[in-house]
Amino acid sequence: MPTVKAYGVSHSTEPLKPLTIERRETGEHDVTIDIAYCGICHSDIHQARNEWGNSIYPMVPGHEIVGTVSAVGKKVKRLKPGDKVGVGCLVDSCGECPDCKEGLEQFCVRPVFTYNSMEKDGKTIAHGGYSKAIVVREDFVLRIPKNLPMEAAAPLLCAGITTYSPLRHWGAGPGKKIAVIGLGGLGHMAVKLASAMKAEVTVLSRTLKKKDDAIRLGAHYVYATGDPATFEKLGRHFDLIINTVSAKLDWGQYLGLLKRDGAMVLLGVPPEAPQVHAFPLIMGRRSLAGSLIGGIAETQEMLDFCGKHNIAADIELIPIQKVNEAYERVMKADVKYRFVIDMKSLS
Ligand code: NAP
Ligand code: ZN
Repeated sequence: MPTVKAYGVSHSTEPLKPLTIERRETGEHDVTIDIAYCGICHSDIHQARNEWGNSIYPMVPGHEIVGTVSAVGKKVKRLKPGDKVGVGCLVDSCGECPDCKEGLEQFCVRPVFTYNSMEKDGKTIAHGGYSKAIVVREDFVLRIPKNLPMEAAAPLLCAGITTYSPLRHWGAGPGKKIAVIGLGGLGHMAVKLASAMKAEVTVLSRTLKKKDDAIRLGAHYVYATGDPATFEKLGRHFDLIINTVSAKLDWGQYLGLLKRDGAMVLLGVPPEAPQVHAFPLIMGRRSLAGSLIGGIAETQEMLDFCGKHNIAADIELIPIQKVNEAYERVMKADVKYRFVIDMKSLS
């Protein structure tokens, strides 16, 4: 089996370090990709540090992968060497359950996630994009629009689809008032996408430090959640709240900002689960919902939407040797607005 260079962890309490991992040979339905860039998602940090209690080690994180096809299997029809492609959070699924049949592979009963997951053989640990190359079944490989810079397109593979999918599902568009809580990797994509969908977009950030950025990204209004007046002023205001916060938050307080029949969609997965009282839900028939990335077809739809509207992430490009420092900065919400690793640095 070919070996490739990577960065990862073999334990929850250690920093990321250089590793060598094995990749399978290119199977007949497989595409082998030379990875050019990989985004750093907050989920990488939760999982590297076992904050959800389900981590499998050794772990090579990374599910915002873009690169160039270097080899394809005999039965691959859609892609050829030299194509610019992407891989997100999913690399396989059962293909037979009702969710797979409806193109919602993210909800498959036996999904194979890009890392922190077992491959379909049940024996091999799947390894992610902080590495030089990856081998993925053709059906899970996406096309990157030619007009988007590769490095800024990488975060679309997770932050992009994770925010696009609920915006579409809950009908973001003209006349809809949408709030985005947390202006980080997911939050900044939610702002760009919701404003391209012509919804009215409000950013709810802890302070007003990111106000100018939020407006530049497409927000119409920005409020500080550290100011109690925000909650009085915006009561019963929004049709949809996209909650991207990675830490524990008083969800009940935010539900009060929804109109009748409004929904707050959880995208962030805080390690600790907050408690919610029934009152803010029953008063106004509000919903507390969740959403997980998006299916493969919808991910391609999102990439094409981004190509058409010229949308990509605002990134800070780093060499892989700075990955531990980048993790610390993400924890402090000190990133504008996604770190992307330049895989040339891994040699
Ligand atoms: P991120 O870049 O760190 O952004 C999170 C933002 O949340 C921060 O920028 C900050 O915004 C706010 N925040 C952080 N700590 C907070 C605290 N203690 N109280 C209030 N607000 C706080 O993270 P990300 O990569 O966007 O990911 C966000 C979350 O989504 C993570 O939990 C991740 O695991 C999850 N996720 C879920 C999916 C899915 O499919 N559902 C996919 C990807 C990621 P302000 O500074 O503006 O307040
Ligand atoms: Zn992610």
